[in-house]
Amino acid sequence: MPDYDYLRRRMVDKHLKRRGIEDPRVLDALGTIPRQDFVPGELAAQAYGDHALPIGADQTISQPWVVARMTEVLDLDAEHSVLEIGTGSGYQTAILSLLARRVYSLERVAELARRAIRRIRALGRINVKIQIFDGTVGWSEVAPFDRIMVTAGAPAVPKPLLDQLAPGGKLLIPEGGREGQRLTLYVKNAKGQVSRQTGDAVTFVPLVGRHGWPDGKNPRNT
Ligand code: SAH
Repeated sequence: MPDYDYLRRRMVDKHLKRRGIEDPRVLDALGTIPRQDFVPGELAAQAYGDHALPIGADQTISQPWVVARMTEVLDLDAEHSVLEIGTGSGYQTAILSLLARRVYSLERVAELARRAIRRIRALGRINVKIQIFDGTVGWSEVAPFDRIMVTAGAPAVPKPLLDQLAPGGKLLIPEGGREGQRLTLYVKNAKGQVSRQTGDAVTFVPLVGRHGWPDGKNPRNT
């Protein structure tokens, strides 16, 4: 069996520190969560390369650098309540759970959500709630959120998510076309005014839902 602790330390050094990730809390979190447990068993040996990997249902776990970068830009503190859209493997969820008070995560594919719930439980993370529904409508019952992270590519930010962001809150979302997006940060000030700033180029699977892309298998507009 590969020495996963060694591979994980090497990932933090080679793919994160040397590529500009500086926040020690983020580096610690990626140095702690066993990424090999969040990919299909036959891909475990590749878990610490800096690339995305398939996780089933045509979806992917993001590459470590992107997870680290997004976590750093989101600027979390231990008191924050965080909403994540696109649980996928649950890896980013686990990272967030180490840095925030409470993490709410939404996934539209039931099979992925169930697996993620098992993994998060196995790690003993008790500050996480995962549910299965279209995250583009947000999660009004537990809103507002201090931070929101969307880990699927959207044509534009879903309005319900901006509405569910607390004053002083930050929302990070890959915005753009289906083939490529830019990490886009929305900041809401104490008066409720929102500013927008674009950053790194990224490639995410599409955010599919009421306020995202139409479902390819069931197009709403023909
Ligand atoms: N953060 C994940 C990467 C997820 S890939 C990880 O660390 O593994 C994006 C995920 O978003 C996919 O699992 C996809 O099914 C999900 N997704 C796409 N549209 C969604 C929506 N409207 N609501 C919830 N989840 C969605």
